[in-house]
Amino acid sequence: MRYLLVANVYEQIENTTKRLEMTDYLVDLFKKTPKDLIDKVVYLTQGKIYPDFMGIEIGMAEKLVIRAIARAAGRRIKELEEDFRKTGDLGETAQKFLERKLQLTFAYKPLTVERVYKALDKIARASGAGSIDQKIALLAGILSDAEPKEAKYIVRTVTGKLRLGIADMTVLDALAIAYGGGKEARPLLERAYNVSSDLGQVAKVVAENGLEGLKNFKISVGKPIRPMLAERLSSPEEILEKLGGKCIAEYKYDGERVQAHKKGDEVFLFSRRLENITNQFPDAVELVKSHIKPFSAIIEAECVSVDPETGEMRPFQELMHRRRKHDIRKAIEEYPVSLFIFDVLYVDGRDLTLEEYPVRHKILEEIVDETDRVQIAKYLITDDPKELEAFFEEAIENGCEGLVCKSLGKESIYQAGSRGWLWIKYKRDYKSEMTDAVDLTVVGAFHGRGKRAGTYGALLLAAYNHEEDVFETVCKCGSGFTDKDLEKIPKMMEPYIIPHRHARVKTKLEADVWFEPKIVLEVIGAEITLSPVHTCGMGSIREGSGLAIRFPRFTGRYRLDKSAEDSTTVNEIIEMYKRQLKRIES
Ligand code: AMP
Repeated sequence: MRYLLVANVYEQIENTTKRLEMTDYLVDLFKKTPKDLIDKVVYLTQGKIYPDFMGIEIGMAEKLVIRAIARAAGRRIKELEEDFRKTGDLGETAQKFLERKLQLTFAYKPLTVERVYKALDKIARASGAGSIDQKIALLAGILSDAEPKEAKYIVRTVTGKLRLGIADMTVLDALAIAYGGGKEARPLLERAYNVSSDLGQVAKVVAENGLEGLKNFKISVGKPIRPMLAERLSSPEEILEKLGGKCIAEYKYDGERVQAHKKGDEVFLFSRRLENITNQFPDAVELVKSHIKPFSAIIEAECVSVDPETGEMRPFQELMHRRRKHDIRKAIEEYPVSLFIFDVLYVDGRDLTLEEYPVRHKILEEIVDETDRVQIAKYLITDDPKELEAFFEEAIENGCEGLVCKSLGKESIYQAGSRGWLWIKYKRDYKSEMTDAVDLTVVGAFHGRGKRAGTYGALLLAAYNHEEDVFETVCKCGSGFTDKDLEKIPKMMEPYIIPHRHARVKTKLEADVWFEPKIVLEVIGAEITLSPVHTCGMGSIREGSGLAIRFPRFTGRYRLDKSAEDSTTVNEIIEMYKRQLKRIES
């Protein structure tokens, strides 16, 4: 197939702004394309040579492209640079210089799509020593035989500037008309695309096997499924009503979404934008290998940074350090991740995307070997708005962004590639920033695990309710302690251990060790939130809710100068909450 045919269609598309006309030109091109080339032509129309998730980009620097054009046109680099400064479009410059050359040459070998594709593929893959010269030679090779118009589009393609503005959906429309018997075939094509993210493969299947091929389109491990997205509402009542009165509410973890594909020992991870992020998370790869029981599976999870000492979730920003770190091994140590799995789309040859959510959830519970590092997203099935609200507060306090409430109905399939009302997110409109540290009394402790075995993992801290003369809990704090602190604290607390909760301590939690209220520590957190668990100021802001400090951290200051009754009071914390209420922009 002549590349000129493709270039002519590009030109037509470039000259229209109407989507329908664009589709007609594409239909025309697809009909003229041999079936075994259709995938390549589809990738090329999008300025690519592979689907995005393969991560193979042509991306040649303009400087190198100028050298290739100079060689092909037999001109000096300086002349080209000068012209490029004027046009601002290297494609146009290439076209101009090759036109002049054309007037002087007679024999050249017409370019085929196959040859252009092959050269672009080699350019994309060239790496290491000598690769720069190799790329220039490859590009100059095809440009030497290119007609001026072809050169324009080849140059725009290699520099990543083709930009014909053809949306994925326009390609699907055109394929439906060219090979599927009409626009009615769109839904089948769309589904195939949504479960493969590969327009080229979809094109090939419909071109070679028609609608039957699409009906039998299979999910492949290694090709990302386009993610299902959530709508948003802002009250438990509205959410329950929309979901038919009952739903499964899950913690909305605040990390990075990953779609994990496992086939034996091979694991691929894809981001929400379908980039292959396997190399960024070698620890998550290992977790998938060791915790997902079937030989092959596709699951979705939120990847969250956890404190290696306490297992507590860290704020989202900390996960982003992983992106910036070059030394991945060090990053794994400093910012290890946990996986919270919330869906399963495929298991050992079985496509689960069209199963209802209760079925998928049940399978999920069977295939995951749960540990500290890999868990199924914490959930609650409820029809009660109050229960939903309390679960929401608990999620926030535990470091989550809120809840994702999901349909349990017959229609609750995995809607690949679309945002719909089967999933509804519930996030906050307000947040209360914490700018000042507080002094809290230690009233209990929890045993540590792992590295902290033998010492305390977290302390239960309380504010002082001065009217009732009691201590009301406000957080469990496991962060900010140095090794020295961890050694010192058990010794320091030893004299105050008592066999049960102190009579002046109000709490809903069961600590492993209880103390007489004596020792005061300084703590700062990210914000103050409503909490169904902590008793500080219970009922003062909302019925059934107390206040808690989110992401609490010991500042290193032991307030030995203070008695327990000198701790920050419950009223002060209520005031801090009210004063610092801020609308969240999202
Ligand atoms: P948003 O990005 O605000 O539209 O919220 C949707 C995102 O929440 C998803 O893309 C996931 O990354 C994330 N998420 C966290 N926990 C869950 C969960 N249990 N179910 C679904 N999505 C979740």
